[in-house]
Amino acid sequence: MNERVERLRERLEEPLLVSAPANVRYLSGLVSSNAALLVEPERVRLFTDFRYAEGARALEGVEVELVKRDLYLSLSKLLTGRVGFEASAVTYASWETLSGGEVELVPRRGLVEGLRAVKDESELRAVRAAAGITNRLYEQLAEEQFVGRSERELAWRIEALFHELGAEGLAFSPVVAAGANGARPHTDPSDAPIGPGLTVVVDAGCMVDGYCSDCTRTFATGALPDRLARAYEVCLAAQQEALASVRVGERGEDVDTVARRRIDDEGFGEAFGHGLGHGVGLLVHEDPRLAPESQHVLAAGNVVTVEPGIYLSGLGGIRIEDLVVVREEGPEVLTTFPKELVTVH
Ligand code: ZN
Ligand code: ZN
Repeated sequence: MNERVERLRERLEEPLLVSAPANVRYLSGLVSSNAALLVEPERVRLFTDFRYAEGARALEGVEVELVKRDLYLSLSKLLTGRVGFEASAVTYASWETLSGGEVELVPRRGLVEGLRAVKDESELRAVRAAAGITNRLYEQLAEEQFVGRSERELAWRIEALFHELGAEGLAFSPVVAAGANGARPHTDPSDAPIGPGLTVVVDAGCMVDGYCSDCTRTFATGALPDRLARAYEVCLAAQQEALASVRVGERGEDVDTVARRRIDDEGFGEAFGHGLGHGVGLLVHEDPRLAPESQHVLAAGNVVTVEPGIYLSGLGGIRIEDLVVVREEGPEVLTTFPKELVTVH
């Protein structure tokens, strides 16, 4: 039986119904929006509908049971006894449906996510490949015309470049945020032309074999106002210091503090309102978290981002994000595009 399932079993007190799509994929290899695995001590049952039947039957180590399109209604008739379910994956409506049957439901949290946080070599290969494409994307993007083009146009260009470079898809819609827009960490690209003398925050990532990359660089369209130029230096210093503190055994909270303290000391503390980083894998945001109050402890094989930001309302934003593998010998940085301020035209 597959080793991921074996490791999950060691953590179970009762059979677990796995229904988060990324978790189903991780354990079985099936890519499906409507499937669930029941991991029992002696077998793994895979429930899915007709659309995924062929893919499911090609998998090893699972007993496939085709069900109706309403997965949870079918499961409510099939499951009995005490069964754990993924509390963060089952909606209240689905839980109600399941509860209509004979099964005794036990909410469980983070069981598969905890395994997913530590990547094996095949997963690391995919993440490295996605990061490699992203590095080439940033090199090509730096040659593009920025001034006079809109954020939306550049975002489309990023999508096209990812496609040309061989990505299988986007990890998320690219963020291109110039000037005052950049002061909003998650903003939709606008149609207004980008002006000179601004920062442009570009956050982009792609997928290879289902695994994501995630990288942010902030470009300048000419000389920046002093306060923005200073903020860039501070953000970069905070990013490098935090990166150096990414080690096996370090707490997510403490790595966050390294960057936060530096930004605070320089007087920009109010302008860094999000966590420092997150795990990346089958999902672009997963465990472990680098953030205030994060209880996660870094382990070899974690893949995390380190992405402090400084957002100055009305003026502009800065974020610098690297993707790194946590290793015994120190962080392996996968995102190689320069972090010194790059000026574009
Ligand atoms: Zn990002
Ligand atoms: Zn990120």
